[in-house]
Amino acid sequence: MGLVKRQRVLYNIGYFRNKEKYKASAKTGQKQWISENQEETFMKRETVIVLDFGGQYNQLIARRVRECNVYCEIYSYKTDLEKIKAMEPKGIIFTGGPNSVYLEDSPSYAKEIYDLGIPVLGICYGSQLMMHQLGGKVCKAPVREYGKIEVTVDQSSALFENVSEKTICWMSHNDYIEQAAPGFKIIAHTPDCPVAAVENVEKKLYATQFHPEVLHTKEGKQMLANFVFNVCGCAGSWKMDSFVEESIKAIREKVGDGKVLCALSGGVDSSVAAVLLSKAVGDQLTCVFVDHGLLRKNEGDEVEAVFGPDGNYNLNFIRVNAQERFYEKLKGVEEPEAKRKIIGEEFIRVFEEEAKKIGAVDFLVQGTIYPDVVESGVGGESTVIKSHHNVGGLPEHVDFKEIIEPLRDLFKDEVRKAGLELGIPDYLVFRQPFPGPGLGIRIIGDVTAEKVQMVQDADAIWREEIAKAGLDKEVNQYFAALTNMRSVGVMGDERTYDYAIALRAVTTTDFMTAESAEIPWDVIGRTTSRIVNEVKHVNRVMYDCTGKPPATIEFE
Ligand code: GLN
Repeated sequence: MGLVKRQRVLYNIGYFRNKEKYKASAKTGQKQWISENQEETFMKRETVIVLDFGGQYNQLIARRVRECNVYCEIYSYKTDLEKIKAMEPKGIIFTGGPNSVYLEDSPSYAKEIYDLGIPVLGICYGSQLMMHQLGGKVCKAPVREYGKIEVTVDQSSALFENVSEKTICWMSHNDYIEQAAPGFKIIAHTPDCPVAAVENVEKKLYATQFHPEVLHTKEGKQMLANFVFNVCGCAGSWKMDSFVEESIKAIREKVGDGKVLCALSGGVDSSVAAVLLSKAVGDQLTCVFVDHGLLRKNEGDEVEAVFGPDGNYNLNFIRVNAQERFYEKLKGVEEPEAKRKIIGEEFIRVFEEEAKKIGAVDFLVQGTIYPDVVESGVGGESTVIKSHHNVGGLPEHVDFKEIIEPLRDLFKDEVRKAGLELGIPDYLVFRQPFPGPGLGIRIIGDVTAEKVQMVQDADAIWREEIAKAGLDKEVNQYFAALTNMRSVGVMGDERTYDYAIALRAVTTTDFMTAESAEIPWDVIGRTTSRIVNEVKHVNRVMYDCTGKPPATIEFE
């Protein structure tokens, strides 16, 4: 029997890299693969690339493509054409962006990209850029379009197969394509937008003024699937279930009998990373859990119950109670970014001290996931809204050789799937997101032990009432925050001057955009009276009605 060359479609099994390279690559987003051999294997995996021009929805595009079981990564428009070519992508998608293509200094790309024979789909700014570069005309639109708009599409286009002739799409633009580039056929329009989509079948170039990646575009998923399958010819064979198996194998091979250290927070990402490592290398793993005193009520004990010596896993679990140290450092600090930095840095210090007791280790595990990478401005182009302390921040004084980031390429829902594959209980896998700096950023202004307790107690009541009302599955994230506002109240005929708690509850599918949840008034009412009765120094409760944007889900 001869050698059959098999095209293996693999999940990326994380990154292994040495400390110095990590620091360098955290800046450039460059990867270090496990071995040359595997690099080759990975490169053969069919990949679609999102080229980011500063749009808000870069991650959404990548997720939608992955939902088609096609691997997808995001790169900045500053990425060299040679690098893109070397990846041999099956297709390239240009994102939207805030600029105007016809102005000088607006993001652009090497024109050769249109001549590679690789299909390109331009979205919004990306569509305007394609037209502008190829000889069409883009200018300020006489009427800007924003919101859900009915678009008439040409159903004979491969992009619109199985799409209704009149379909609702999400528009968000001030400029428009006045004239399509030569060789392009107009395949969609609206009353105010004569060129809402174009195609050049021969060159496999497509462009849409609207955003198919956003859920408001009713048949957007179908359009992206059409691009990925009809135009790029992808097979769609990239699946989640091989990830766990392949990762365990690769980690085992790489780690050998080395020692591994992991910072476990009890959140979804670090829990999945820790259990994955434990399955791979068992006893060689030690997990350090730092209780920074900014966790939810009783959370430290809950994490210990699951992952500690009495739990189901073999993690060599060490708990460090460092509450006082964090409160001390945070004393009087009011600025959100400063608080984040202090918490991140102190976390590393505590972790280092613990690591020193263990002695030299070979590998350090980080639960970094793909949105962390992109949002920290490494992968894509979008503005950094908040800093993430788990990317780029590394213990300086821990003696280790390499970092393992087994989840670096996964979106949250993919991490959850991996968690279920690993047999982690549902309630842990589907936990609400909880920020690394914890309650530190749910207390507006300076943090004190007393305030932490207020927000913990109020939050516990809110979560209890939401669960009692059976809303915990419908509402995607809900918590209490402590506003820094104090106001006058009256209790038992006496004047009070106490704090206001803000209740937050949002529905969202991706946490990138969110809407304030419509919680029944009686649930809010019950929660309010319980909070003012049971939590000392709170005399007012408010409900946050703001969506994201313009607010963020968290307060700081
Ligand atoms: N800035 C461009 C416009 O206003 C593109 C907008 C976008 O990509 N959402 O038309």
